[in-house]
Amino acid sequence: MKILVIEDEETMVTALRALLAREGHEVVAARDGPDGLDAAKTTRPDLILLDLALPGLDGLEVCRRIRVFSTAPVIMLTARAGEGDKVTGLEVGADDYVTKPFSPRELIARVRAQLRRAQTYAQAAGRDLLQVGEITMDVPGRRVTVRDTEVRLPPKEFELLRVFMVNPGRVLGRDYLLDRVWGEDYAGDVRTLDVHVRWLREKIEREPGEPAHLLTVHGVGYRFQ
Ligand code: CA
Repeated sequence: MKILVIEDEETMVTALRALLAREGHEVVAARDGPDGLDAAKTTRPDLILLDLALPGLDGLEVCRRIRVFSTAPVIMLTARAGEGDKVTGLEVGADDYVTKPFSPRELIARVRAQLRRAQTYAQAAGRDLLQVGEITMDVPGRRVTVRDTEVRLPPKEFELLRVFMVNPGRVLGRDYLLDRVWGEDYAGDVRTLDVHVRWLREKIEREPGEPAHLLTVHGVGYRFQ
């Protein structure tokens, strides 16, 4: 797997590179926030290890911006053990959190867990029958059932819901969703996504104004649960 390490401490980069190479991973390193963001776009890593305190752009902001276009698992590396940092990291779409100093064994276990999880999502993408809580989707039959009642969804809403249902619990960024659902059809109207989310909420939520499934992640996109 290809792992992007965004970290400004040279000794840490060297140690991570050796550790991950021993596991058979290819390592790409970036030394500051902006370079890390570029590398996430250009090298398309399978997983990202992201330092919290970085020059140029801090780790939380880098994570938020990566999440807008990528679903690669992000593990934050930090010297701060505060709970507040942890919550904020997870809110901007980080998948896990490791506090320095960490043991090589702990880090490798977290990396393996995230790669496994990413594989589960990838497998879900090919599944014909999807279920998340009270919502089920028969993909080839193009049927959606919410609380035992069939709901009719136009093609874009169906596709948007499908992308959410194969990624339960995951923060999905606006650019990622636009690319997946609209791709070349995207006409450039920034409201397109939000309008479709609103229509979808009206069909799947008990109370569309207080969604329980399709949640907004401010500055990033949406999370479905
Ligand atoms: Ca640092």
